[in-house]
Amino acid sequence: MNEMRRDPERIAELIREAQTIAIASHVNPDGDTLACAAAMRLGLLKLGKEVTLWCDGKVPDQLSFLPGAELFRIPAGNEGPFDLFLAVDVSDEKRLGACAKLLEASRRTAQIDHHPTNPLFMQVNSVDGKAPAASLLVREQLKALGIGLDREMAVCLYTGISTDTGNFAFSGTNRECFETMSELMDLELPLARLNRILFREKSREQTRLLGKAIASLTFRGNGQIAVMKLTQQDFTDCGARGEHADTLVDYALYTSDTRMAVLARESGNGQIKFSLRSKDIPVSDVAQQFGGGGHPLASGITMNGELEETLERVLKALEKKAAGDQ
Ligand code: 5GP
Ligand code: MN
Repeated sequence: MNEMRRDPERIAELIREAQTIAIASHVNPDGDTLACAAAMRLGLLKLGKEVTLWCDGKVPDQLSFLPGAELFRIPAGNEGPFDLFLAVDVSDEKRLGACAKLLEASRRTAQIDHHPTNPLFMQVNSVDGKAPAASLLVREQLKALGIGLDREMAVCLYTGISTDTGNFAFSGTNRECFETMSELMDLELPLARLNRILFREKSREQTRLLGKAIASLTFRGNGQIAVMKLTQQDFTDCGARGEHADTLVDYALYTSDTRMAVLARESGNGQIKFSLRSKDIPVSDVAQQFGGGGHPLASGITMNGELEETLERVLKALEKKAAGDQ
């Protein structure tokens, strides 16, 4: 029986038995999923493994400093065979996108994740729904394999932990984050430089898109829900891509007196991508209702359809949620 728990020993066994290992990150890749894959690759190379990195999506420019960022590839479907397929920070099979094609080409499948909505869809699942970042599980995994951390791995792990905890500020931020940080600081982590790249600097495209997103801001549910939307035209006007919208929803959430925020954006292939955020009321069940998932206070949905119509359906569900909690 599969239950949700960390299982570094079982994953370590699979890794030791394998020679060719495919590591996969989730679609719309973020700092945590890419950092997990990059850190695991560096560690497994030390064990003499043949490692390939896979992601159905482009690495955001902002994260191109990660060691091995240029090695991520989108599977065509004819790759493999692999001894082991390892998904990192991937909440369900849909989030693998085209990387799901590699499952059949792999003798064993495993995952390391921290999404409470994860249906434990691999042969071996090391999933801790309470961990604030999957990168923390990767650090533990490397330890279980007897691999010492180096500066490059520290850069990866800091990236994953800091981005998934909102720079050590979200409620899930715990002792393990800071214990890991003290270890990373001993490895001469370039903290100031990474912090600037990850949290302070914005590209021109991001700043232009922020203007569009703020201009679109409206409120629903007696002001409890802040709503932003971006059309394909907005992206074209700003010369921007999806990755440039990644953290904009925070500007809506941190408007005083709002409890939830939604950013709905056209992603260009007939799909609408929603980012749901909340200060207190869990929203992952609303995301799941529409085929999405994520964390209680930070979830996402990808739906086929038209922006206004799908947004209205999501807002109705969120309004119901907000009303039920008063
Ligand atoms: P974001 O809004 O930043 O894209 O995602 C927030 C959280 O929700 C992340 O943990 C992400 O993995 C999850 N998430 C985002 N989009 C989707 C989706 O389409 N489906 C599922 N299952 N999870 C998503
Ligand atoms: Mn994560």
